[in-house]
Amino acid sequence: MKKTSLRSNPKADSVRMTKDSALSESNPDAMIQLHGVVKSFTNAAGEFAVLKGVDLTINRGEFVSIVGKSGSGKSTLLNMVTGIDHPSDGKVVVGGKDIYTGVTESQRSKWRGKNLGIVFQFFQLLPTLTLLENVMLPMDYVDMYDFDERPKRAMELMELVGLEKFAYKLPVLVSTGQQQLAAIARAVACDPPLLVADEPTGNLDTRSSDTIIKLFEGFVAQGKTVVMVTHDPSLTSRTHRNIIISDGEMIDETISKSLPQLRHRHMLQFTKISEERIYQPGETIIARDQPVDHFFMIRNGQVDVVLLDEKNREYVVSNLNKGEFFGEMELMRGGQSIANVRAGGTQPVEIVYIPRADFTRVMNESPITVEAIGRIVQERLEQRRIADHRAGNR
Ligand code: ADP
Ligand code: MG
Repeated sequence: MKKTSLRSNPKADSVRMTKDSALSESNPDAMIQLHGVVKSFTNAAGEFAVLKGVDLTINRGEFVSIVGKSGSGKSTLLNMVTGIDHPSDGKVVVGGKDIYTGVTESQRSKWRGKNLGIVFQFFQLLPTLTLLENVMLPMDYVDMYDFDERPKRAMELMELVGLEKFAYKLPVLVSTGQQQLAAIARAVACDPPLLVADEPTGNLDTRSSDTIIKLFEGFVAQGKTVVMVTHDPSLTSRTHRNIIISDGEMIDETISKSLPQLRHRHMLQFTKISEERIYQPGETIIARDQPVDHFFMIRNGQVDVVLLDEKNREYVVSNLNKGEFFGEMELMRGGQSIANVRAGGTQPVEIVYIPRADFTRVMNESPITVEAIGRIVQERLEQRRIADHRAGNR
């Protein structure tokens, strides 16, 4: 990491963050923790890494979507979490348990049956069993619930997913949407705290997809953690968090949230060159009349944009929050800041920033991002004009 060259109040006690500060193994909020996970495969050309050192924390009760181009490593990533495959390097902790160190394949398989539900794009129901029997299968495998209770519990799950009328049918006799609903009932048969789904709606119509997302939302409301790989951008808005993976690497979520129009490879470049800094409440981030050398994005907290009125009194022209950016006006128009931008609220503010030269270079290659930022600049100028007017009339 480079040394910070930000202009700010040197007396204030800013703290620099490490990128993996959330990765302590004792983090009780975490459901999934990946530490430097590498997965390599060997082909004719030699060894190639599909996951290139992934760090990721997903907390209990979160509903998370994962997107990325085909071949970017999404399924491989899920396979690391489910224990279906194993990492070449790094550590995977699920529900507080390191699932690879000192654990045999068969122990992992039992653990998986009790602790997680898995949903695939192509259902993978056993074709010779009825839907109800398919749902009972995991209970038999991990020997959960009394033998006599299993059919009743399976039927309750069929009701939960709206398939009670089809319980005694073979998979081939119901629609693809219904097969997926049965697969979801099967996934939650042993009431796992974590549900992992790999493109669960990839093969379904919009209505079936919607039913499935509603079910997932219901599980999340009960406190389960749901992690879903999806190709459908309309589903990502329904999750708490959207994670983008590009060529086996995670994109910084603040960057993807702030600049959603960027190409994934540009987001990844920004992820690699970005730095982080914490500002205490009231601390200046950009000083008035100073040149601006960075593009800033808010990871957490609130930022106040402060102007002066005609009598040189300060007033807050706007508050910016998580996932918003600033500094763009000065960078794009090459000026000094007319505003004072500082950490607002009562909590420390976490800022991610990118040097001017890198920001400008990527903007030159991304006209749609420039256009999107341009629209926000117009809105902000209008907001300022109105605020100036009000301040002048005080
Ligand atoms: P996604 O789910 O994002 O489409 P995958 O995780 O399935 O991507 O695959 C990522 C890359 O890893 C692809 O290039 C794929 O060909 C390769 N890959 C996945 N599994 C294997 C394997 N078992 N052996 C060799 N290469 C694999
Ligand atoms: Mg895949």
